Amino acid sequence: VKRVAPIFVALVLCLVPRSSAQTVSLEMAPANSAVLWQRLERLPLENADRAADLLSLFKEVGCADVVEENVRGAKLPNVGCTLPGLTTQLVIVGAHYDKTKKGRGALDNWSGAAMLVSLYEGLSDSRRNYTFRFVGFADEEKGLVGSKAHARQYRRRDTPKPHAMVNIDTIGSAESSIWLERANEHLAGHLVRLASAMDLPLEIVEFKGIASTDSESFRTHDIPVISLSSIREDTFAALHSADDQLSLIDPEHYPKSYRLILAYLHQVLPVPGETKK
Ligand SMILES: [Zn+2]
Repeated sequence: VKRVAPIFVALVLCLVPRSSAQTVSLEMAPANSAVLWQRLERLPLENADRAADLLSLFKEVGCADVVEENVRGAKLPNVGCTLPGLTTQLVIVGAHYDKTKKGRGALDNWSGAAMLVSLYEGLSDSRRNYTFRFVGFADEEKGLVGSKAHARQYRRRDTPKPHAMVNIDTIGSAESSIWLERANEHLAGHLVRLASAMDLPLEIVEFKGIASTDSESFRTHDIPVISLSSIREDTFAALHSADDQLSLIDPEHYPKSYRLILAYLHQVLPVPGETKK
């Protein structure tokens, strides 16, 4: 999260109603809660170590082509990994790995960066329509530096625009929430329906100009975006402070957010050529 104003005025607008007794089958093998937690607990302290650890984590789950993308104006690279699908249509899944000086940057945003690895793992054995590009962004806290550098390439005419960008920033301290005012309505609608069908919690949050995050770097290039977090008033105050420790992350909520995002990437994004409803 890039904080742009000191006071939290975000509103939890509504709790998405949950239906009962519907099941969504996942034809894949999600990482279990213990594995998710192990990856969280690695929590390297320095940004350089976080970049290096993200790179080794991607290798550990079998990513064949881990990429370090140099970022102009940043000392550290973006760390990315591509998972090919049945089509070359691209979905970017991003989370910044950098932290501010204070605190461990556990919630903001090792929670999201480490989750990228488990999402890669969960999708890797499944049938995928899209090609997924996972990117750990550098220097979000200094002004979305890494994501702006990455998004710039899609301005070129010879580079196809991604179908969507799914951003994860500060996740697992409470129920998953979406930043609705900046989200593409179709992407948001799919997620709301899926959360309901899976009986998983999802809230709608507005930040009212007090914070920004990496999805904005893509939205400005007309790429459809959605950003997931779990920020509430109490956790917002802890971000960028000595209080941002692993203890902010809830062992129940973190795996729930993971399962929701994994299912969302796997089956809910519209398939190319699918009849638009
Ligand atoms: Zn932040």
